[in-house]
Amino acid sequence: MDWSAVTAEVMTKIAPYRGQGRVADYIPALAAADPMKFGMCVVLGNGEIHCIADADEQFSIQSISKVFTMSMALRRVGDELWKRVGREPSGSPFNSIVQLESERGIPRNPLINAGAIVVTDLLVEQVGPDAMLAELLDRLRTLAGDDSIMIDEVVAVSEEKAGARNRALANFMQSYGNLCNPVSQTLKAYFSHCAIAMNCRQLARAALFLAFDGRDPISGQQMVSSEFCRRINAVMMSCGHYDNSGDFTYRIGLPGKSGVGGGILVIAPRHGSVAVWSPGLNAAGTSLVGSLALEALVKITGWSVFV
Ligand code: GLN
Repeated sequence: MDWSAVTAEVMTKIAPYRGQGRVADYIPALAAADPMKFGMCVVLGNGEIHCIADADEQFSIQSISKVFTMSMALRRVGDELWKRVGREPSGSPFNSIVQLESERGIPRNPLINAGAIVVTDLLVEQVGPDAMLAELLDRLRTLAGDDSIMIDEVVAVSEEKAGARNRALANFMQSYGNLCNPVSQTLKAYFSHCAIAMNCRQLARAALFLAFDGRDPISGQQMVSSEFCRRINAVMMSCGHYDNSGDFTYRIGLPGKSGVGGGILVIAPRHGSVAVWSPGLNAAGTSLVGSLALEALVKITGWSVFV
């Protein structure tokens, strides 16, 4: 594939839309992001890396962290995870509380806020909050080959201050016995992993194992079993973008996960991994320009799993 032609075409396709969408402002520290920013990085199984524009600029990965916490939870407790969280798309906004009452405190899936809070609670219960965050950062740094990956404390504190909705979700689940640790402790860990700052290059590289049966093709390290890898991809495909998961699958046809920082991670099984970033979001909280870039990329490469 002529990657310089591919990247040039993606840039041409998104040019009329640059700056569109609404930057997330419910977390005050994210509100200052420049909607004109755009970065993309494709990492292939043979180690080739193709970056465009602002691919080396760090942003808040937010909900994309939920893919990595879900992987850690599956590794630790396996199918036991599904006793505390489901694996169905919610069809609701990422921070919705409506289904929790009728479904007795069991969130629909690990990629919406309520589900990710339960996953964090489980990891905190298993190893403690500090060790859990240290393990997560260590894995990301090792996979990305970059020790500079950190939690942005300013973003974490900002989200904690504005975190009434997430506190409501956590308290509600606690009332149903689906939270083992104090709400404040679990949420502190949750806000911290959402506030990890990474760039497209680091993110795409860190997730490459998900495109190759759970084994990082460059280091050879098995990060999750091939069976869980297949299932993580399935959950990303069906639940990775809240109430626009169906639209994302229709347009892009790859497992993915978006975050309100404007990043999107997608996995192209057997090909590679892709991270895009552009802070302007659509109504459901997915990067508007980022998803257009992915749509263009998939069209050119033929990487949709539904080819
Ligand atoms: N940390 C954010 C929150 O809990 C994550 C939301 C997102 O990226 N969709 O609200």
